[in-house]
Amino acid sequence: MSARILVVEDEEALTTLLRYNLDAEGYDVETVMRGDDADTRLKERVPDLIVLDWMLPGLSGIELCRRLRARPETKQVPIIMLTARGEESERVRGLATGADDYIVKPFSVPELLARVKGLLRRASPERLATVLSYGDIELDRDRRRVARSGRAIDLGPTEYRLLEFFLEHPGRVFTREQLLDGVWGRDIYIDERTVDVHIGRLRKLLNAESDPDPIRTVRGAGYALDDRFVKAAE
Ligand code: CA
Repeated sequence: MSARILVVEDEEALTTLLRYNLDAEGYDVETVMRGDDADTRLKERVPDLIVLDWMLPGLSGIELCRRLRARPETKQVPIIMLTARGEESERVRGLATGADDYIVKPFSVPELLARVKGLLRRASPERLATVLSYGDIELDRDRRRVARSGRAIDLGPTEYRLLEFFLEHPGRVFTREQLLDGVWGRDIYIDERTVDVHIGRLRKLLNAESDPDPIRTVRGAGYALDDRFVKAAE
């Protein structure tokens, strides 16, 4: 599951450079050139990190940052602000508005990549963990193996990604649409009922005999890794 990064920058050359390099690092990158477009975009989908330019057409980076911090859905998203040299006196204002980090143009790409990595690690350590576990379920990313109470479980690629996604966000309820976005990717059109099919398969493979079901169906909402299940297993 690669982290999603939204780059909001109106300089085309820089956007291309950032997209290329972030993409090469394995991130899922999206770029927007205008502040107001970014605002609209962010109401639809929340990325894992935002690289945000200070001066933008439509809506300034500062104003966008302020708005994002005021909304519960985007309150916690790590934001790296980009600014031109000489605007450093504005630094305090930038951080006060809620940016997590600040980088002055022109900057070196490796430096930006290091900051992105650092912020993502702080924001969600489970994304980079090798072994994810929940209750008696364990998923080893390096070996691509899943086990429940030490019993090896052979999952298909989609069920594996689905379980990995749940393990990255234990207890959180996801709608079918969010699962489609997170597991299948947003560029693929798949019927939402497909999610139910794969949830069904995952359940069947995870729950041998009388194991309690770790996946909770939330009526009218979607699915979650059940936190009651982990409490029972402890
Ligand atoms: Ca700019």
